Amino acid sequence: MKQFNGTYGCPWCLHKGVRIEKGRGSVNAYHYESSPSPLRSAVQTVRDCTEAVENDAPVHGIKGPSELMLMQLFDCVMGYCIDYLHCVLLGVTRCFVGLWFDSRHHVQTYYIGRQVNTVDEKLLSIKPPNAITRAPRSIAKTRAHWKGSEYMNWLLYYSQPCLTGVLPREYLLHWVLIVHSMPILLSKSISPEDLQNATIRIHKFVLFTEVLYGRENMTFNIHQLIHIPDCVKNWGLSGDIQHFCLNQTMDCC
Ligand SMILES: [Zn+2]
Repeated sequence: MKQFNGTYGCPWCLHKGVRIEKGRGSVNAYHYESSPSPLRSAVQTVRDCTEAVENDAPVHGIKGPSELMLMQLFDCVMGYCIDYLHCVLLGVTRCFVGLWFDSRHHVQTYYIGRQVNTVDEKLLSIKPPNAITRAPRSIAKTRAHWKGSEYMNWLLYYSQPCLTGVLPREYLLHWVLIVHSMPILLSKSISPEDLQNATIRIHKFVLFTEVLYGRENMTFNIHQLIHIPDCVKNWGLSGDIQHFCLNQTMDCC
């Protein structure tokens, strides 16, 4: 299928995306839809696939068949799970840290690069327990080299206390929506009520990303967040995966 930056680039739903200018080029922005586009299904995807081959043109972003479709029990939509490391940590979390601290955003109301030393002072004073193997590192001096596990610690543990009193209140309240959702979605067990609450928060987070940061920042990774609750339901995007990544993978990324 087409990549995330093409029309109909979401592998989970039929959000078409909209082409908008950003910097010197353009991006496929995934604006928040109050009536979400239909989810993809394996049956529909096979149909799109057939039509794409017959007409030699992509249908709903699908270009042609995959050999994985030959596997009888494999669902070519729900058989995949969102990549927590690249979507949430190195995608969404790194993107927001950049929006807050990169000097190219200095005219924006959410820019807090001038207070980076205040944030660093709070961050470097945190003494994490042994379960967290890396000590916090300076945002000002080392952010360009942060690993996935450092973005995870920032998202889950450090960002809320470090940004309190620095990031303008409406932006902080917005960020807290994801800070409070992810631990629920990553937990080893989850009740239907908790999943529902996390889903509502994630939707609010995505909607208000567009309101507060503009459509040009509605990236594919931001859009993918709304599909995480379904991945949790289907796969249990879970503490087990998080634990595995933390120990095996993230320090390499
Ligand atoms: Zn989608």
